[in-house]
Amino acid sequence: MTRVLITGASAGLGAEYARQLAARGDDLVLVARDGGRLEALAGDLHGVEVEVLPADLLDPEQIARVEERLRDPEKPVDMLINNAGYGMGLAFERNDVEDEVKHLRLHNEVPLRLSHAALPGMLARGHGRIVNIASVAAFTPRSTYGACKRWLVDISRWMSGEYGTRGVTATAVCPGYTHTEFHARLGLPPGQEGIPGWMWLDAPDVIAESLRDIDRGKALSVPSRRYKAIVALLKVVPAGVAARASARGR
Ligand code: NAP
Repeated sequence: MTRVLITGASAGLGAEYARQLAARGDDLVLVARDGGRLEALAGDLHGVEVEVLPADLLDPEQIARVEERLRDPEKPVDMLINNAGYGMGLAFERNDVEDEVKHLRLHNEVPLRLSHAALPGMLARGHGRIVNIASVAAFTPRSTYGACKRWLVDISRWMSGEYGTRGVTATAVCPGYTHTEFHARLGLPPGQEGIPGWMWLDAPDVIAESLRDIDRGKALSVPSRRYKAIVALLKVVPAGVAARASARGR
């Protein structure tokens, strides 16, 4: 039996991880700010134990409760999915600097704190999985969002090498544009994101493919053939060309 703690489980990719992991029999701990949505999701998941742990991960006292839950030896967490996140306007110089700092903290400080809380127990038990939801934006010069996601790719690669031989794997999952609430929360309603139709993925496909990679202990998961090809291309095109191409769409 596996118990998985998912951050950002109230919507989008996090909720889809919850559905697919519950379908294969894993117990869950669901974390997000909206406790009502987490309760509603928990009510739809049958045959597994689901704990609802509402928390704003940017609030020091609330994230401390999640860290405490990850350290609990009585009900060990075998897999941590650092998924909570959101986007910022691409014009860094026009964004409020405090908003930028919150964005940085949610994407980097929060996964660092939660991984740090989860790792000692995982290493003592000799097994565990840390999953960081990054993005294909990690491979493009794309404002602070891409830079935060790159950090998640790099730390996952390092953790994978550092802890893999002791039974704990780390995987950076790098989805491309995926239908969730992400773009609506940026103020871009469906159809107005400026992104061509062929570039959109569906959350169930992204999660199913990423779970296969996580199960294999891969350090990097780029769901879908089309985004694998895009990432391969981004590694060889000049940085200026990649920057111009990635400035399109949100
Ligand atoms: P989403 O549908 O908007 O879901 C975001 C989740 O994060 C929600 O459950 C939200 O829940 C939670 N969250 C936000 N701020 C939080 C906070 N302060 N504390 C706790 N939870 C918080 O977006 P999504 O697309 O599923 O995004 C999930 C991850 O995938 C993000 O890291 C995103 O960067 C990444 N990603 C998305 C795409 C895409 O195109 N959709 C592509 C690549 C990567 P509450 O509002 O209830 O707190």
